[in-house]
Amino acid sequence: MRVRFAPSPTGALHIGGARTALFNWLLARHERGELVLRIEDTDRDRSSPENVAQIIDSLRWLELDWDEGPIFQSERSGRHQEALQALLDSGHAYHSNATAEDVKAYKRRHGAERGFRGEPETGGAVRLRVPEEGATVVHDLIRGETRFEHLHLDDPVIARADGSVLYNFAVSIDDLDARITHVVRGEDHLSNTPKQLLVLEAALAAGLGGRAQPPLYAHLPLLHGPDGRKLSKRHGAASLAELREAGYLPEAVRNYLALLGWGSGDDSTVLSTEELVARFELEQVSRNPARFDEVKLRWLNGVYIRAQPADQLGARLASFLRNSGHPEAAGDERLQRAVEISQEKIHTLAEFWPLAGALLDGLRDDPKARERWLGEAGRATLADVRQALAGAEGFDEESVGAALQAIAERRGLKPGEVYQPLRVAISGTTVSPGIFESVALLGREETLRRIDAALGAG
Ligand code: GLU
Repeated sequence: MRVRFAPSPTGALHIGGARTALFNWLLARHERGELVLRIEDTDRDRSSPENVAQIIDSLRWLELDWDEGPIFQSERSGRHQEALQALLDSGHAYHSNATAEDVKAYKRRHGAERGFRGEPETGGAVRLRVPEEGATVVHDLIRGETRFEHLHLDDPVIARADGSVLYNFAVSIDDLDARITHVVRGEDHLSNTPKQLLVLEAALAAGLGGRAQPPLYAHLPLLHGPDGRKLSKRHGAASLAELREAGYLPEAVRNYLALLGWGSGDDSTVLSTEELVARFELEQVSRNPARFDEVKLRWLNGVYIRAQPADQLGARLASFLRNSGHPEAAGDERLQRAVEISQEKIHTLAEFWPLAGALLDGLRDDPKARERWLGEAGRATLADVRQALAGAEGFDEESVGAALQAIAERRGLKPGEVYQPLRVAISGTTVSPGIFESVALLGREETLRRIDAALGAG
């Protein structure tokens, strides 16, 4: 089996493209086949080297590799010309100056159902000659058979008058030359398939491609957002680069994307990449649109975060912080402990800093939190807390916990009425990892300093 992923570098790698790349990769690995990466960069105005770099970067981040390529379509124009000439020489294609108007006039004469056939001329665009008889049948491995009667198909244009070939022609020749056996791509390409098959049949008949066979096709279901509409920017992160910045882990993204249209239909299934490779089969890909729901991805990402060895999560957070504007925190020796006490509470790498950043780089400023928890009663409690913590024998979680609980009991307060003023005092806000662990992490000196500042201010 030989499959390919063939992105057009006209923008970043989006979730739909990443799902296509992943399905091709899973299939290649499951079948012990090969994956070819082809960059379809023939649209010179919209393609750019930055987009190519970004796509490759996103594939690497997702930890998908390929066995051949990248092959740049733009570098194959010599071969495309040669193939075009072979079709012209063998009579499978002809020059034609027919315009859209001419095609309409033809249909007025022969009936709207009749596919357009042009008269060969000496110059102009090049059209493929569709056989008079029979039909082109697309055997889609997911959608079943669709039959296109040749009688109804127009002779498609495959090259412009200036000689440059059209998209469907280039793709077909590239697939043929790369000996692709299975074309797995988004449903939006379904309507291109009969044209590509016609080009392939003509190319094979003209002796291009040796004894190769046209590939089999599989069109992946569309992606919708949770509201059932076509996936777009308004559903949240749209590109892989954005998912990465939002702190998702590549293994969680792989797991989630694999379930978009494949498997049991249960998008909360946790499957390691090894299991995905072992189980992946095209037969279980659905025809129905799949739903991308960032809420579910976030949930799944949380599962992966909690399952990580803490030191590995610490290393990942260090590199995430370094790349997201907190290089000093990345080098802080207390980071590892801060990660450990946050691991149960975060769903993404990006959620770490708002939760625990105050422990590492100083108080946040949240006037509402101060107003709510550091009024008269809160400050009285906090003064007690200060005294207890100053006198506590040890300063680990247990000692801190025991000291705080004793205050709650003595004053007849609910635990939150003791913890929240303290939390606001040490973090500036009402969010932090567990309060005992947070206080222990800060240490006695820094905790007392922050409490004093809170008691002094106001
Ligand atoms: N270059 C096309 C795209 O990015 C894919 C073509 C194909 O897979 O046949 O949508």
